[in-house]
Amino acid sequence: MDYIIIDLEWNQGENTGRELPVSGIPFEIIEIGAVKLDENREYKDTFHALIKPSLYKRLHPITKDLTGISQDELKKGRPFKDVISDFLSWCGSGYTFCTWGSGDITELQRNMNFYGIPLLSFPVYYYDLQKIFSIAYDDGKIRRSLEAAVEHLNIPQSQSFHRALADALYTSKIFSVLDNTIIKENYSIDTYQIPYEKHNEIYAFYPLYSKYISRGFENKTKVMEDKSVTAVLCCKCGKKLKKKVKWFSSNAKTYYFLGVCPTHGWLKGKIRMKRHDSGVYYAVKTIKLTDEKGAAEIYEKQTDIRKRRRERRKKLHSSDQNKPEC
Ligand SMILES: [Zn+2]
Repeated sequence: MDYIIIDLEWNQGENTGRELPVSGIPFEIIEIGAVKLDENREYKDTFHALIKPSLYKRLHPITKDLTGISQDELKKGRPFKDVISDFLSWCGSGYTFCTWGSGDITELQRNMNFYGIPLLSFPVYYYDLQKIFSIAYDDGKIRRSLEAAVEHLNIPQSQSFHRALADALYTSKIFSVLDNTIIKENYSIDTYQIPYEKHNEIYAFYPLYSKYISRGFENKTKVMEDKSVTAVLCCKCGKKLKKKVKWFSSNAKTYYFLGVCPTHGWLKGKIRMKRHDSGVYYAVKTIKLTDEKGAAEIYEKQTDIRKRRRERRKKLHSSDQNKPEC
């Protein structure tokens, strides 16, 4: 099994310019850089290709400034279909993608889909090294730039950043020194493709939490009516939790839950409602171990929402009474 550390550069349309963004593909990939490492994270090979854009042929000022790629250089690129075919055969059959950040695998697949190329095999697991770096060296939440991480680890800076191959090489150097257990325990799942049926919905287990990704539903109400979406099981032992605060939300985008496992204590749940490119809605649910303080925060959130709702109702009621009678 190899690791493919991939980095993409992309171009975009200009909202005011001649090349307006095309629906379904806001970013067009113009460069792919990748490094292949073996299962011991030893260097094997690199891949680099420039892509001649077919949608946004003029370089957006942001892309130009960031990457330093010139319009002339881009003309020498090859069509996306040819490059991706070469790239996927270079990747081989047994590999896992590693990226800096969470966007690249989604954009790669969105571009593949646009050109009618069969997508990566579902589900797509990968390692987001920006997230893993944060878990290893920071608080797990903040996200550092690749440059900041390279500086933090005192990795020699021989090339400038923001070109696909240079960034993939820097990322591979960071990857080589990250703790293997932390890497393995913190894999990510790309949701450009979501489960299409109940039987292939995703259940992932991590040391401190579990994650569930549902299939698509035609609207948000249907998502929350589904028993698997709202099920609450302990992320450690799988036992059904005793409900303390049932699922609630203030905006129908994020839902919260609080429960107790007889063995593992407090657990909090979160459902994030997401809209897929295809128009359907799906849920990403996490169930996480917490403590008294975490539990108190959920109670507080619920009280706040109830209070705000009461105030809104009162305001509505009083404005109704102030209306002149016809
Ligand atoms: Zn438990």
